[in-house]
Amino acid sequence: MTHDVLAELRALRAGDLPTHGGRTLAYVYDSALPGLDELAASAHALASSVNGLDPTAFPSLLRLENDVVRTAARLLGGGDATVGTVTSGGTESCLLAVVAARDSRPEVTRPSMVLPETAHAAFHKAAHYFGVRVVAVPVDPVTFRADPAAMAAAIDESTVLVVASAPSYAHGVVDPVSEIAGAALERGVRCHVDACIGGWVLPHASDVPPFDFSVPGVTSISVDLHKYAYCPKGTSVLLHASADLRRAQYFASAAWPGYTMLNSTTQSTRSGGPLAAAWAVLRHIGDDGYRSLALRALESTRVLREGIAKIDGLRVLGEPSATLLAVAAARDDFDVFTVADEMKARNWYVQPQFAYRSSPANLHLTVTAANAGHESELLADLGASVEAAIEAGPVRVAPEVVAFVGGLAPDSLTPEEFGGLLAAAGMGGGDGVLPERMATVNTLLAAASPALRERLLVEFLGALYS
Ligand SMILES: *Cc1c(COP(=O)(O)O)cnc(C)c1O
Repeated sequence: MTHDVLAELRALRAGDLPTHGGRTLAYVYDSALPGLDELAASAHALASSVNGLDPTAFPSLLRLENDVVRTAARLLGGGDATVGTVTSGGTESCLLAVVAARDSRPEVTRPSMVLPETAHAAFHKAAHYFGVRVVAVPVDPVTFRADPAAMAAAIDESTVLVVASAPSYAHGVVDPVSEIAGAALERGVRCHVDACIGGWVLPHASDVPPFDFSVPGVTSISVDLHKYAYCPKGTSVLLHASADLRRAQYFASAAWPGYTMLNSTTQSTRSGGPLAAAWAVLRHIGDDGYRSLALRALESTRVLREGIAKIDGLRVLGEPSATLLAVAAARDDFDVFTVADEMKARNWYVQPQFAYRSSPANLHLTVTAANAGHESELLADLGASVEAAIEAGPVRVAPEVVAFVGGLAPDSLTPEEFGGLLAAAGMGGGDGVLPERMATVNTLLAAASPALRERLLVEFLGALYS
């Protein structure tokens, strides 16, 4: 019976993108260390029924969380005063940094936060959830680095938080944290460094300017364990420079007849599974292990970056200094969306990113230790995919269709009209079935305004889930 169920699950999982082997260059992180998954799974199983809701009832989780927070603080320039929280992921860490910043300034009636426009969408989610206005500041159009003077100029009386990325997800570029945090400090405003994706790698990279708690003015840092700490999904750490800064993140409610609810995160019941798995993985890999994994991923990124520069038709955007690459077309006789389809046909997943402000349409590559030593396979298939895309020519969508989509205002459309649009775009299939080739769909989505694209994809999601 158990066997049947697991066999069924395995069969379902076989339809997914591979999570190991380095062929899926977004969403997943593979250390390629033998036995790591088994260790994590065993640790997860040992603690998955334990509840982090009450650390006095389950002191093991308190101990694990303090260990994990101390490890992260040590890596990121923290000292004795540094405190933190293990959360469910990068988005939750960012959400909590924003809500803590907002609630530490109750006198500000219309709070805002200053972001480089390359900041992760998690901050727009926080803005939406918590009623904090986003002041998005353009970045340098060549390097894609945040502009510290423009960010400083954007700080005003309503600013409760300033954000810098180390690095940004889209381009893998590290913002000038010292200047940004310095400007925030001068105005008495909190500065959050979003090191969700880079925090476990950048400390081992050379030539990266300081971005951690060693920088005056940095008040909090987020770092995801389920990215480059190679832990199972479901763990991130939010660090604060002091317990004072963390206080507003906590929530307590005695306004009901049950237990006094006391929460450090957005969750209340919290599985001990992800935390225990992360703790086990951190202990098992250790400082030296992480150093060598980071160096492998960094070196692999360097090899790929140089190889991509040699592929006629491609260019790497900005000046990435971590393990992420954004690859754009260097000429206009083909589409990167077609390259993504061609890569898919060759069993690679690269993530299309739409044009936004100064950033052109591009393909995102998250490079992990599993890519080390296999760069030539990836580069050969990327080169062949570009050739095929050039052969196919740019994606042709009738100009009147592009004009029609570009002119639609999301607010004026009914759910039925959205359904029709999705069907027309080839996204109307049930059960999440998308066309084999996505270039046309992506070209149509690219023609839509960001607001229309958001609505279309929300309708799509609603159609996927029962
Ligand atoms: C991944 C990421 C996040 C969000 O993390 P999730 O774990 O996906 O919620 C936030 N910021 C950056 C820079 C990231 O790369």
